[in-house]
Amino acid sequence: MDTEYLIRKMEKYADEKGVPIMEKDGINFLSEFVRLNNIKNILEIGTAIGYSAINMALVGEDVYVTSIERDKDRYIEAVKNVKNIGLDRRITLVLADAFDFNTDEKFDLIFIDAAKSQYLKFFNKFSKNLKEKGYIVTDNIKFHGLAFSDKTKLSRNLKQLIVKLEKYVDFLRNNKEFKTRFFDIGDGVAISRRRLNENDKNATENK
Ligand code: SAH
Ligand code: MG
Repeated sequence: MDTEYLIRKMEKYADEKGVPIMEKDGINFLSEFVRLNNIKNILEIGTAIGYSAINMALVGEDVYVTSIERDKDRYIEAVKNVKNIGLDRRITLVLADAFDFNTDEKFDLIFIDAAKSQYLKFFNKFSKNLKEKGYIVTDNIKFHGLAFSDKTKLSRNLKQLIVKLEKYVDFLRNNKEFKTRFFDIGDGVAISRRRLNENDKNATENK
């Protein structure tokens, strides 16, 4: 089936069923990032219906994605989409909670796009699976503009989630091992990379 048609169909499905796939400018940015940085193998936390995994894999014939999803219905939908688009050889889908998933493989890119309250835990668990010069990309860092804004009117649960997300941003900002750049794209994207030289190690950034 036609790739463009299938992608549009996924966007429509996500819209109708309220599946939080990446926004258009976010996915374009991510695909371009994969292309420009010659990224070949990717670990994604949070497949949903396979939209971002498929878009990244479409960047090149030699791009491979392993993606984890804990919701069975979404996983099944993703398996179907990946197969229809003919990418089942290069996209490996895993039905599991990311905290139960373990691998020794090292990746060029780890894309964190699952439960926002667990970002810090995902980062700490999977940074060992990053190649020395690899990148960790985190989506939804702004959380619909709610991060770092007035929280008095929010529900308790939402407030707790936003506070955790803000803590994660602070963790990235003050991190001695990783250097992070924040991009005002889509719902906010952070790109982290290991500090490799001594200068970098001494300076934490407050951007
Ligand atoms: N990356 C997708 C969107 C992912 S939405 C895209 O842009 O196309 C986030 C997904 O993460 C949800 O489907 C949710 O079920 C899943 N998720 C949340 N916490 C998870 C966990 N601990 N392990 C695995 N999947 C998780
Ligand atoms: Mg997202």
